Amino acid sequence: MPSETQTKSGTCPRHGSVEATRELPKPSFPFFVYAVRRYLAGKRPYRCPECGSPVT
Ligand SMILES: [Zn+2]
Repeated sequence: MPSETQTKSGTCPRHGSVEATRELPKPSFPFFVYAVRRYLAGKRPYRCPECGSPVT
């Protein structure tokens, strides 16, 4: 499943300031499936690349 990675500067409880990432699905058909996947992915937190903890 193709996806794109979003990055954001955040603070990990263990590693301090990190470039946090999360995956978002690329547009695909059927569109409503993509819309739902994108919506769910958008609700997931950004995660530390080192330990996977949600960053703030
Ligand atoms: Zn971390």
